[in-house]
Amino acid sequence: FDNKEIAFLSILFNFASTLIGNIHLYEWAIRDALTDCYGISFFNRTMDEIIRDCERVPNMTFCLCMLDIDNFKKYNDTHGHSAGDKMLVKVARVLLDDIRDADAIARYGGEEFLIMLPESTLEKALFTAERIRQKVAQDTGTTISLGVATYDQDMTKNEQLINKADEALYRAKTNGKNRVEH
Ligand code: GH3
Ligand code: MG
Ligand code: MG
Repeated sequence: FDNKEIAFLSILFNFASTLIGNIHLYEWAIRDALTDCYGISFFNRTMDEIIRDCERVPNMTFCLCMLDIDNFKKYNDTHGHSAGDKMLVKVARVLLDDIRDADAIARYGGEEFLIMLPESTLEKALFTAERIRQKVAQDTGTTISLGVATYDQDMTKNEQLINKADEALYRAKTNGKNRVEH
């Protein structure tokens, strides 16, 4: 290389490394530091986009699954907060390993997670939820409860779908935990 070429390459290199640094910073800001799942603001934006697609495309299906660790307060009280954190990471890993599109998972508050299942029918979503319930029990030794909700055309805001999933999750809790409801 001559000097000119080296100067050019070094500019290019600086540009590329700044770009990569920015991408990392961006990823860091939208991901939850503990579990590596998406934070709720990024998740909401993605959900808005899917709902807009659903409004445009007739018969497009969209399901949302909300899940919550069972008796987690007791787990913390028994094993300590840092063991609780490790359990949270373990549960998140099962979710991230199972759901092919990792972008679809968000940590929603303390020990609750949301999974978007675009183009999924209720039947498929229930199947996925049940599979996850079993895997979490097997791989972590703790149990989770899950609520599944389907998008319907009347919904204009993603909160409506989140509330519907929350109500299903509540039923899973009151019906004995470690189960899926819709
Ligand atoms: P349920 O089966 O009804 O969900 O009972 P629960 O004890 O899991 O639910 P509750 O809402 O009473 O308690 C949730 C607990 O989750 C309380 C809090 O200590 C714990 N928690 C929330 N976020 C974190 C976290 O980031 N790390 C740890 N270690 N614990 C957390
Ligand atoms: Mg809980
Ligand atoms: Mg909770």
